[in-house]
Amino acid sequence: MVLLLPDFRVRQRDYLLEITRAMTAQLDVGEVLRLILRASVAMLAGEVGLIALHDPRAARTRVRAVYGVGAEHVSVFEPLLAPEIIDPETHAFDPAEFDRRLRSVAQALDLPLRQAVALPMYLGHEAIGMIYVFRTFTGTASPNDQRVLQSFADQAAIAVHNARLYAEVVREQKRLASILDHSADGVMILDAQRRIETFNKAMSSISGWLPDQAIGQPYDAIVTWASRPDGTDLAEAMQSGWPQGRDEQAASLYVEGDLMRPDGTRIGVGITYAPLTDADGRLINIIANVRDVTHFREAQEMKSTFISVVSHELKTPVALIKGYAGTLRREDANWDRRVVQQSLAVIEEEADRLTDLIENLLAASKLQAEGMRLKYEDVSLLALAQASVTRMKTQTDKHRFVIKFAPDFPVIPGDSLRLRQVLDNLVGNAVKYSPNGGEVRLEGTYDDDTVRVAVSDQGVGLPQDELGRIFERFYRVDDALTRRTQGTGLGLYLSRAVVEAHGGTIGVTSKPKQGSTFYFTLPRHQAYQ
Ligand code: ADP
Repeated sequence: MVLLLPDFRVRQRDYLLEITRAMTAQLDVGEVLRLILRASVAMLAGEVGLIALHDPRAARTRVRAVYGVGAEHVSVFEPLLAPEIIDPETHAFDPAEFDRRLRSVAQALDLPLRQAVALPMYLGHEAIGMIYVFRTFTGTASPNDQRVLQSFADQAAIAVHNARLYAEVVREQKRLASILDHSADGVMILDAQRRIETFNKAMSSISGWLPDQAIGQPYDAIVTWASRPDGTDLAEAMQSGWPQGRDEQAASLYVEGDLMRPDGTRIGVGITYAPLTDADGRLINIIANVRDVTHFREAQEMKSTFISVVSHELKTPVALIKGYAGTLRREDANWDRRVVQQSLAVIEEEADRLTDLIENLLAASKLQAEGMRLKYEDVSLLALAQASVTRMKTQTDKHRFVIKFAPDFPVIPGDSLRLRQVLDNLVGNAVKYSPNGGEVRLEGTYDDDTVRVAVSDQGVGLPQDELGRIFERFYRVDDALTRRTQGTGLGLYLSRAVVEAHGGTIGVTSKPKQGSTFYFTLPRHQAYQ
């Protein structure tokens, strides 16, 4: 008996054509495998067929396509796929065992299956699976029939391979998209004409453009510099022939500047452009990595402010101390007691100022590192206000101090030492920033839940746009008086930290030339922590 039915010889070409067409038309491997299986079963005049593929990750064989029986019967074939009946080297079956198992499969399906033809699917030297065709009669194949069937198996192997490659590409694409989406840096991919192809989420929040608005647009329409950036802009660089050479690493370009956002605001960014070229060195894509440098710039600014503030503030007392000490120890001079006393008083005052400065610096850096811990006790803000005024009175004769606290002003839970610093700072500022003197007024009010203390002066006041910033670390208003006045810009920063650590709020109302009122509120009852 021949293996192939004669009229299928004629149709084998049609089948091959159909399979090839399916393979080029669609990437759905299931469909292609079903076609190949149908052709193989038809050509062998079989009854039932299945394609089983090795799944290297699960180290097992799985049925990927069936023909002639319902999918619910697939498990019946499992014993035939078991690796122990296949020689791993030759892929040949143990014939007696295979026949025995085939009989029980036939019985379970109630089909008179008598022979199984198995065609290994090879990809190079790797056997990736097997096509089985089950028949109700037995027969052998001629070498030519074998070749035709093997070509089916080869096509199936290629289809599987393509599908796996495709799945891998899709997976890679997804991975890349998710990396881009979760990247904290803005990423833009441009084509060789600088048209935007990809625009990730971070890029969207940095630039203010939605991906939908930006994708497809020319790069220059989206990236507009508010002023000339540092470094060479991409358009300029490309006009002068960028990228040159094949070394993509060396060819990358860095520009830093302020971007104009669609709402009119600006943002400081640093952009690295990396070219992506093909094997011939032709530019395919430009990958732009965009970093928001606002924090970096702030940190740089902070660092230089810190250095200038600290060096300035350290220099003044140190110079005074050195001057007075030097004068006192002159061997040729015989100072009377009054001069010695006065000089020592200055030295002591300046040493105190240094201590304050160092303490403030330490407190600020500690605050940054570990937050603020409070030692709670009963605090009388009225007593603290009185003590603060008493201290301050010795330093000025131009100012009048008024303390006006509501009767029965309550004692509150708080850290007395730190609240004293807040009051000293506010009263000290009220004096410092009213150089012509005037009234410094301390008022205390309260309601059921909170107490409020306000310190008002009749000094230089503050412009509206400075009110928010003066509580920032090292921030000082840039005017002539502040420049003349000693200070680090840490006082209000630390005061705010103390008040907020207590669960309170701090604020200011002010008008230039009319004076300021700094106030803070604190809870009357300690929040449960
Ligand atoms: P410092 O006084 O050491 O500079 P602060 O943090 O206490 O630092 O204050 C920050 C800035 O706020 C000051 O430099 C000053 O410009 C402004 N300022 C603070 N208090 C007053 C006030 N009462 N009136 C006007 N300006 C003030």
